[in-house]
Amino acid sequence: MTTTRTPATPPAECPRCAHRTLELLFVSPVAGAWEVYQCQQCLYCWRTTEPARRTQREAYPESFRMTVEDIRNAPEVPAIPPLRGI
Ligand SMILES: [Zn+2]
Repeated sequence: MTTTRTPATPPAECPRCAHRTLELLFVSPVAGAWEVYQCQQCLYCWRTTEPARRTQREAYPESFRMTVEDIRNAPEVPAIPPLRGI
């Protein structure tokens, strides 16, 4: 198949925190099918073919949105507790 798709316009901002520095991490093996971007502020990654609620700030669920303030105050990821001896 030789279908070529016009590459979509790269996203302008992160869906989660609205940061504007995004890195193109991967592109699909089939040129123009999809790209994976990562926000350089909150590290959110998404593929351009995911639904709008994952890829667009306006459609991203409000309760999951982050602000710079949220990111600064985010607690560390909890450590994995030691294994329980049986
Ligand atoms: Zn972000």
